[in-house]
Amino acid sequence: MNVLVSPNTVSARIANARPLVRTVIVGHVDHGKSTLIGRLLHETGNIPDGKLDSIKAVSGRRGMPFEWSFLLDALQTERDQGITLDTSQIRFRTPSRDIVLIDAPGHAEFLRNMITGASQADAALLIIDAAEGVRDQTRRHGYLLHLLGIHQVAVVINKMDRVGFDEQRFHEIEAEIVSYLAGFGLTATAIIPISARNGDGVAQRTPSIAWHTGPTVLDVLDHFSPAKPLADLPLRIPVQAVYKFDDRRIIAGRIETGRVAVGDGIAFSPRGTTARIQSIEEWPVPDESRIPRRARAGQSVGLTLDRQIFVDRGDVISAAHMPSKSVDRLRARVFWLHDQPLAKGASVNVRVAMSECRGTVALIEYVVDPGRLSASGAATIAQNHVGEIEITLAHPIAADLYAVNPRTGRLVLELAGRIAGGGLVLAVDAQAHQSGRAASGVARDLRSDKETLTAQASRLSDLLKELSPAQRLARFRDAVGGKITFTTSFGLEDQVILHLLSEQAIDVDVATLDTGRLFPETYELWAETERRYGRRIRAIYPRHDALETLVDKFGINGFYESREARSACCLVRKVEPLNRALNGAAAWIVGLRADQSGHRQGTGLVTVDDRNLLKLSPLLDWTRGAVHAFALAHHILINPLHAKNFLSIGCAPCTRAVAPGEPERAGRWWWEQDEKKECGLHLVRPGSAAHPHREAAAPPQA
Ligand code: SF4
Repeated sequence: MNVLVSPNTVSARIANARPLVRTVIVGHVDHGKSTLIGRLLHETGNIPDGKLDSIKAVSGRRGMPFEWSFLLDALQTERDQGITLDTSQIRFRTPSRDIVLIDAPGHAEFLRNMITGASQADAALLIIDAAEGVRDQTRRHGYLLHLLGIHQVAVVINKMDRVGFDEQRFHEIEAEIVSYLAGFGLTATAIIPISARNGDGVAQRTPSIAWHTGPTVLDVLDHFSPAKPLADLPLRIPVQAVYKFDDRRIIAGRIETGRVAVGDGIAFSPRGTTARIQSIEEWPVPDESRIPRRARAGQSVGLTLDRQIFVDRGDVISAAHMPSKSVDRLRARVFWLHDQPLAKGASVNVRVAMSECRGTVALIEYVVDPGRLSASGAATIAQNHVGEIEITLAHPIAADLYAVNPRTGRLVLELAGRIAGGGLVLAVDAQAHQSGRAASGVARDLRSDKETLTAQASRLSDLLKELSPAQRLARFRDAVGGKITFTTSFGLEDQVILHLLSEQAIDVDVATLDTGRLFPETYELWAETERRYGRRIRAIYPRHDALETLVDKFGINGFYESREARSACCLVRKVEPLNRALNGAAAWIVGLRADQSGHRQGTGLVTVDDRNLLKLSPLLDWTRGAVHAFALAHHILINPLHAKNFLSIGCAPCTRAVAPGEPERAGRWWWEQDEKKECGLHLVRPGSAAHPHREAAAPPQA
């Protein structure tokens, strides 16, 4: 019987695991990928003792100068001697991460492997030769990263030794690539000048690049965020088989994501039936004390239920309170492999996890030729091209959005019994299609669809208005395809939202803007919150050069002195970083409440912002008292400043405690008289009195 659970081994493995980040290295073929990989293996101590010396000696004997790329070739030939190395998947360790470096030999293979799930990348290094600059292949690879939804991208400008470590040349390339990536909403995590050959900037900042104040390649790798552990995603077990065994029916499958325990309520999609887990079976039958009570992602399990219900291969088991979607129409980004182009009306076999059914291509919205990067509204998708399509299914099957669950959000298309393509599920059912379409990276590049988004926001507002904030967050995640970013400033509302997201394991990106002027209490709460929920909160910092210019021009506290300085400060420390935080997102979650200020009263539950992002305020209709009571009841960590009457949490110099009877936002930019106190907008309106000098407006005692 194919039922085997080994909880002890799996738990031990998980307990010892370090965060794993799969990082693809892309860029023009001659720009130094192999040299960088060789140098990284050396700098991180991942080369066997004596290996480097022996390769250098062999090079010397052959009269060839040593190249770091020889190292890869040499290690490749030694795989049989116990060194785990594959030229396309290289594993090594940084101080706090395990890195799998995926070398992408060609864009078509890379794209196919990523879309079909053969390989997966959480982050990317894009390499550029300092002498040659940005080439077509650099642009192509940058675009593909965007197409695949890889948001963590560091640009490495290599061969700086060939341009005399010229800072000016570095900034020229930096400006070109930053502007190119920004064209489709991608912001580089870092831009790093290096000489992989000499080691400058790889693991150390050397005197040659003393002018570079940013991270090294190793720093960046060590800080890339790993993908969320599969066990922390919602439960999904595609049923592989149902066995009759003595008087028991055992439902067998592999836990793709999430975890299960005896007694859990589960649902079967697309049937919609529910039951409780009576036992988790193991074979051979263990003694009583070792019978498993729980299991997690990666394990194959056999389950018995507390009641007799019909279950079949292809059904998907989920937690009863968070079932997988039952869909009969879906939208996908597909990579087409078949030599016969895919056309509208084509009948294909669609497989999602263990489910399969016939489907008809109802729409081909556009097609991208990854080789030439030309997008078109073509009627067919040719071999090795990417397209976004809608498929109607002959009967409902269980599926998730790829952004929500990468394991059950992929599909395989078959034509005449042969695998013909693979894809990512971007949206399901007609309503989600609207937001999925708006959220789709390619679609958003090619057209602006504000009206559709506004209509979608209004529909979502209606849908969510009667629900609790927890339900709003879960339904919003279900309805919106693509990345959703929640921005927190660690205020009361933000802490409640983060709690609700974490409790329900809702897949969103969480980010905060570190303006450099936050309260010490906020930094402490930040660290404590990460520990409580076991997750990293992405920090976005002001751009260093912009900050230096700002302080040089206005002084460190210039914002007290003039409107111009305040505006500049907020732009550099908040507005521009916020834009970066939201880059690549389809939607944004914020902690606004309508009663915070007159200005916020007219805000909807879901709106469309200037960036064409759907914006959800799940606590919009709650009062501060209600939020506070909820936080206390659920033991949520609260910023200690609230106890001192700081009602909203912002930058330390610009925030003060509020006296009884004062409006809630009075504590922000407290020396101003303006009532419209929103970041970047908190300027004194024309005609109103200029703000008093800070000494003239001491904060009232709380
Ligand atoms: Fe600058 Fe104050 Fe705005 Fe913070 S709140 S960014 S310190 S002006």
